[in-house]
Amino acid sequence: MRLEINNITKRFKHKTAVHHFSMEMYSNECVGLIGPNGAGKSTLIQIIADILNADEGNILLDGKKISTKKNQIGYLPQYPNFFSWMTAYETLLFMGTLSGIAKNILQQDIPLILEKVGLANESQTKVGIFSGGMKQRLGIAQALLHKPTIIIMDEPVSALDPIGRREVLNLMKEIKKDTTILLSTHILGDAEEICERFVVIKNGQKIEDATKSDLLNRNQESAIYIAIPKEN
Ligand code: ADP
Ligand code: MG
Repeated sequence: MRLEINNITKRFKHKTAVHHFSMEMYSNECVGLIGPNGAGKSTLIQIIADILNADEGNILLDGKKISTKKNQIGYLPQYPNFFSWMTAYETLLFMGTLSGIAKNILQQDIPLILEKVGLANESQTKVGIFSGGMKQRLGIAQALLHKPTIIIMDEPVSALDPIGRREVLNLMKEIKKDTTILLSTHILGDAEEICERFVVIKNGQKIEDATKSDLLNRNQESAIYIAIPKEN
């Protein structure tokens, strides 16, 4: 698998949120897209997930335009939004049905996916009483329903308390064994924990693309350390 992000530019009125941004990703990579607040991460991620249109550039998966119908990209928004009155099981059944997955497949897959994200015991719990971490894990479950080629997560742990953060990071470590992940974060420590490669975005532009070992050899005055705090 090869994901190509080619020369993406996105403008909002007078603001250029993403500016001629290019990068590539391959199967089984876990890449951290890191940058300070307002850098353009969410905008870029929504373009990759085909939720926003770019003004320039394109996104190719194995050389072809991404087909939203095939749900090749699993997208986890920063604040996953669920109906509070539905149980975890009902939520996945509803979301899966909405996006065209057959009911019998969902009935078979949902218990397995809930197990995978550590919510098997909460299958019949209403989502309204879920903690932030549980909601993120349900969001990951929703993204996994489609068996996507790649999962893109927008700051999945940034708003969580330490327990929720730990649960979600541990889950991501499990998932990355058989899934390609693009993780957006403004905290270097989160990306360092699970990613082997870091792409740094600042003012909508790519300023760095480095492996973890490269990074460890950099001195603390390099662009990546100046742009990105290590911890929250
Ligand atoms: P990040 O996710 O890295 O914090 P964003 O992609 O959300 O950054 O935002 C990048 C820049 O684009 C910011 O300056 C933000 O204010 C601006 N921006 C994002 N979305 C919109 C929008 N819908 N309308 C106008 N400006 C926007
Ligand atoms: Mg954002």
